[in-house]
Amino acid sequence: MKITDVTTYTVAPRWLFLKITTDTGFTGWGEAVLEGHAATMAAKLEELREFLLGRNPLHIEDTWQAIYRNGCYRGGPILMSAISGIDMALWDIKGKYYDAPVHALLGGPVRDKVRSYRWIGGDRPGNLIESAKAVMDEGFDAVKFNVCSELQIVDTNRKIDGIVAQVHALREAVGQSLDLAFDFHGRVHAPMAKVLLKELEPLRPIFVEDAVVSAQVDTMADLARYTSIPLCIGERLHSRYDFKRVFETRAASVINPDPAHVGGISETVRIGTMAEAYDVALAPHCPLGPIALAACLQVDAVCHNAFIQEQSIGIHYNEGGDVLDYVTADGGLEIVDGFLKIPSRPGLGIEVNEAFVIEQAARGHAWRAPVWRHDDGSIAEW
Ligand SMILES: [Mg+2]
Repeated sequence: MKITDVTTYTVAPRWLFLKITTDTGFTGWGEAVLEGHAATMAAKLEELREFLLGRNPLHIEDTWQAIYRNGCYRGGPILMSAISGIDMALWDIKGKYYDAPVHALLGGPVRDKVRSYRWIGGDRPGNLIESAKAVMDEGFDAVKFNVCSELQIVDTNRKIDGIVAQVHALREAVGQSLDLAFDFHGRVHAPMAKVLLKELEPLRPIFVEDAVVSAQVDTMADLARYTSIPLCIGERLHSRYDFKRVFETRAASVINPDPAHVGGISETVRIGTMAEAYDVALAPHCPLGPIALAACLQVDAVCHNAFIQEQSIGIHYNEGGDVLDYVTADGGLEIVDGFLKIPSRPGLGIEVNEAFVIEQAARGHAWRAPVWRHDDGSIAEW
């Protein structure tokens, strides 16, 4: 079997899908986007096209290693997101070729569904109580949200009090029937992270994500010793080599690698297994589309330490196209009582609505991250 074509589709809201075609008729889908950099990713995949054409798609590991090692400069968000999309598409092809879901080829499933949570509150947290109750009505018992908007490296007590009051009001409204995860989103720096974690500890979140920006692994290791809240890091790390330091310094007790940014299903399973050796939990990151979500579910199927799965259905970014729009009516993604079922069909286990993908790609998108500034005019972390 040989790879005969590599096609990318830039589709709303902010995604880039990849389709790999073979001479046998088997095709595979991947999601190779880095949010805000879709055109760069399309160019990177065009650059890799010549290497991929004619290769045996079943040789996933050799393809992974060759692209990772061959270019001298390795790792980082662009290269690893490109490898991610290719890895997903090749696993999709391999599963279809052997008429088995990806997880069956990776040792078989350890679970048949995974708990999921919903995003609420938007970029700048608002409307938390109403949104949380709506999500609970849909059967979910966990949500995640940004706890704050712009926060200076040292900010005012007034600002901290406002953040804490908003989250307290939510906890009071929903009691303990809803688990809360707080995303600091790299907006909080070390001085305020310590203050906020202390204030938020009584609210018993299931984890705090990116308590400081993920480049600050050492700071997070200090914070982890200071708080009883499980700290989570990983969406902006890009290989097992980046995660090595997280494990060695005990910086987190939950990790959220993104199979679309860390090297695909292959690398996420490896990182999940490394985490298991440190008794660290796995919660794959997925604010992306249905192909990335299907890849996450294949990882959740085989990693024993996976306990919850992010997904972006209805997230504030999803304007002009949402997760389920891109799969067929009976497309293999199923949510029942807050749990995502592990897809059992061959490959990634979903059926992409290709006609809709093509229609959306004709329009494309030019999504960019918002630009935020502090009151003094300096750039703020988004
Ligand atoms: Mg996050």
